[in-house]
Amino acid sequence: MSSMPKDATNSTSPGNQALFDRARQLIPGGVNSPVRAFGSVGGTPRFIRSAKGCRILDEDGKEYIDFVGSWGPMILGHAHPEILEAISSTAIHGTSFGAPTAAEVEIAELIVDMVPSAEMARLTSSGTEATMSALRLARGITGRSLFIKFEGCYHGHGDSFLVAAGSGAATHGHPSSPGVPEATANLTLVAPFNDLDAVEKLMAEHGSDVAAIFVEPIAGNMGCVPPVAGFLEGLRKLCDEHGSLLVFDEVMTGFRVSPQCAQGLLGITPDLTTLGKIVGGGMPMGVVCGPKNYMEHFSPTGSVYQAGTLSGNPLSVAAGIALLKRLRADSEEIYSTLDQRSEQLHQLWKAALDSHGIPHSWHRVGSMFGLFFTADTVTNFKDAAKADEELFKSFFHGLLAEGVAIAPSSYEAGFVSLAHSSDDISFTAEAIGKLQF
Ligand SMILES: *Cc1c(COP(=O)(O)O)cnc(C)c1O
Repeated sequence: MSSMPKDATNSTSPGNQALFDRARQLIPGGVNSPVRAFGSVGGTPRFIRSAKGCRILDEDGKEYIDFVGSWGPMILGHAHPEILEAISSTAIHGTSFGAPTAAEVEIAELIVDMVPSAEMARLTSSGTEATMSALRLARGITGRSLFIKFEGCYHGHGDSFLVAAGSGAATHGHPSSPGVPEATANLTLVAPFNDLDAVEKLMAEHGSDVAAIFVEPIAGNMGCVPPVAGFLEGLRKLCDEHGSLLVFDEVMTGFRVSPQCAQGLLGITPDLTTLGKIVGGGMPMGVVCGPKNYMEHFSPTGSVYQAGTLSGNPLSVAAGIALLKRLRADSEEIYSTLDQRSEQLHQLWKAALDSHGIPHSWHRVGSMFGLFFTADTVTNFKDAAKADEELFKSFFHGLLAEGVAIAPSSYEAGFVSLAHSSDDISFTAEAIGKLQF
C-alpha cells in the first residue's frame, strides 16, 4: 500500500538543524562523506532516523519518497526483511573473526556465477578499496605505471583517481584535491568519456606504458551517461592491441542494470571488474573480480599485496548473499518490474517538466536514471556541466518540500527500487507538477 509521505513533528528529536549545528562542531562539515552536506544545493541536510521500503524518515519527523537508495545498494528498498534477517541471524554468532568463513565461499560462488567475466573474487570493505586494489593488480600484472580514466567517471577517493584533465582533450592528469602528489596524478591519463579518438591518441603515444583503462561502463557519477555505440568495444580492442587491461568499475552498475551487471547487458568482457554498493546489500563491501590467471597475482598466491582486517566481514557478506540470491532467483520479474516503474517515472516526470516548459534531457538504463536541465544531448562531463545548476537547486528543494528526495547534486544518478509502487511514482510526478519555478 502506498500513501502520501507523512509530515509529523517529533518531540523527542532535536531535529535536523540542531543536529547539523552540533555535527559541524564534531565532524568536518557535519558529514562523513562530502556530498551529504548539501554543499551544491544549499540548506540543511536531512538527518535520517529510519527507512523502510522506498521511504526515509528524517529527524524532523518528515517522510520522503527516496530516489537515492543509499547511493545505489537499496535495489529492493530499505530495510528489506530478508536482508535484515540475514544480518541479525549472522550477528548473534559473532561479527568479525579475521579468519575465513563458509559465507565468503558462498558469496564468491554467487559473484562468479552472476558476473560473466569473473572466475575469482577478492572482497574489500568499500568500492574505493576495490578500485585501488584493481589498479595495483593491473600495474602488478603488466609491470606498467600509467593508466587511463575518463573525465566525470568516479572511482572512489584513492589518490590516483582524484585527478582532473589538464588542458587539451586527453592528457596527463593534475591533482583534483590537495594532498594528491603531482607525481601520482601524472601517472593518470585523462580522456573525455565517449571519445574513442582521444583514447586512440593516448594509446598511440603511451600504449606500451598503459597498465589499464578504467571506465564506468555506464557512467553514473556525472548523472547517468550511457556509452555511445562502439565506445566500449573500441576500448576493448585498444586494450587488446596494446596489452593493457580493461577494468570495468561496476561499483554502481553491478547488479543494478542487470543481474549480469553492465558487462552482461552490453556484451563486453572486461579483464577486471570492481563491485560495491549492491554487492554488500547495504553493508560495507567492495569486490575485485576477474579471471583466475589475473586474480592469482593477488597475495598470497601472487605477489601483488592486498589485505583488509574487516574484508569479508560476516555481516556484509550475509547481507550481500541474501540480496544477490534474491536478485538471481527472481531476476526476470525483478528487473522487468524495475524497468517498467523506471519507464513510468521517466514518462511522468518528463510530462510534468514539459508542463512547466523546462528543457531537460534524460538518460535511463534500467532503474538508473539521469536528469539534466539542458536541452542538449549529454554524452560526457562537459555536456553534463552545461546543465542549469540554479534550476536544479529549485527542483531539488521543491521536491524535498513535497516529500520527494533525490540526490543533492546534479551530477548524481537516481535509482528506482522494487519498493517504489506505481502510486509512489505518480505521487512524485504530481509533486513536480506543483513546483514553482
Ligand atoms: C560509489 C562508487 C565508488 C566508490 O565506492 P565507495 O564504497 O564509496 O568507496 C567507486 N566507483 C564507482 C563507479 C562508484 O559509483
